[in-house]
Amino acid sequence: MDWEKVFATRSSRMKASEIRELLKLLDQPDIISFAGGIPDPALFPTQEFQQAFANTLTGDKQTTALQYSVSEGYVPLRQWIAKQMEGLGIPCSIENILITSGSQQALDYLGKLLLSPNDTALVTWPTYMGALGAFNAYEPNYDRLIANGNRSAKEYQETAAEKNSEVKFAYMSVDFANPTGETLDRAGREKLLDLAEELDIPVIEDAAYQSLRYDGEAIPPILALDIQRKGHIDETRTLYCGSFSKTLAPGLRVGWVCAAQSVISKLVLMKQAADLHSSTINQIAIHEVASKGFDKQVAKIFTAYSTRRDCMLAALEEHMPEGVSWTKPEGGMFIWLTLPKHLDGAELLAKSIENQRVAFVPGHAFYADGSNRNTMRLSFSQANEETIHEGIRRLGLLLKSA
Ligand code: PMP
Repeated sequence: MDWEKVFATRSSRMKASEIRELLKLLDQPDIISFAGGIPDPALFPTQEFQQAFANTLTGDKQTTALQYSVSEGYVPLRQWIAKQMEGLGIPCSIENILITSGSQQALDYLGKLLLSPNDTALVTWPTYMGALGAFNAYEPNYDRLIANGNRSAKEYQETAAEKNSEVKFAYMSVDFANPTGETLDRAGREKLLDLAEELDIPVIEDAAYQSLRYDGEAIPPILALDIQRKGHIDETRTLYCGSFSKTLAPGLRVGWVCAAQSVISKLVLMKQAADLHSSTINQIAIHEVASKGFDKQVAKIFTAYSTRRDCMLAALEEHMPEGVSWTKPEGGMFIWLTLPKHLDGAELLAKSIENQRVAFVPGHAFYADGSNRNTMRLSFSQANEETIHEGIRRLGLLLKSA
């Protein structure tokens, strides 16, 4: 069977990322890895989940926990999320919340809902690689989103028109972004909303890291600012994607979308058609663990990750040669390095693995056009302080020799 012949055109954009393939090979004990952008499993609330799963599987609850359930999601969990959202300046009801299988599924659904082939999606340069992966299936063009106002609506429209295309949404990882660690400040968020209003497009606010602020002042989510402008969530254009992956556990695959009811009801139909609903038992367990001790869990993560971030920043200061600069994130898991123009992150990774046994993600993978090869992403979530010092020392040696 010649499978390529029968695959739909949209599948041609679904390619295994060369980086992900490469990083799979790096799971060797002597490699210091700053590559994987994943939580430290030692911080998972394992005992709390043991108890929660045991509780859901005893008595009356077990029939609910193991049964099909509604596409919108488990009501007590949606209620808990609605309350959290309210705390962030987003008054809403459970009708504004859909539970998804991780926020990754929300990105896929929003791509499906908003993109026809050849439409233009605005994304930052660089952006979350997984968002590009999700949107690619819907065959869009990408244009570079400059969130804080330095590109006019007209420019975006003209660039799209050159391709007979229309701008359909702006997507951004806004807090301690993957991959840069940077946060869009309040003025930037307002400018992004201004732009979206001028273009009359939705904003997809990827808030996967929203809870992981270690210092600095909290900034209202774009959706909160949008509500301040419009008076009610049902009048807004912001599609907020939240996740329990970075706070409680990514393996349970529980995330959510919070948005105007008219969008949520369309997404519910999409979810019905795609997978009926997210795992019932996982939603119940997440609800139990979150409602009993979300803040305590987040505090535990703060202590560990902020120490590791400080340690990595100090090590960079000590070991990086001149010409290398990096971001100073106020939260999240990532630091982004910019190297002198002539250096190539992918080539450096190959050398680093061979000579220094240190892994990172070359930055070009996060650009829709594969540009800016002189960049790299480092993650500090999984390594201990000693390993961070040693890994950055070796990376410094590599960059000095390059
Ligand atoms: N958005 C961003 C910015 C991410 O970094 C990730 C996970 N790496 C996701 C969304 C998806 O996370 P999940 O599906 O586990 O919620």
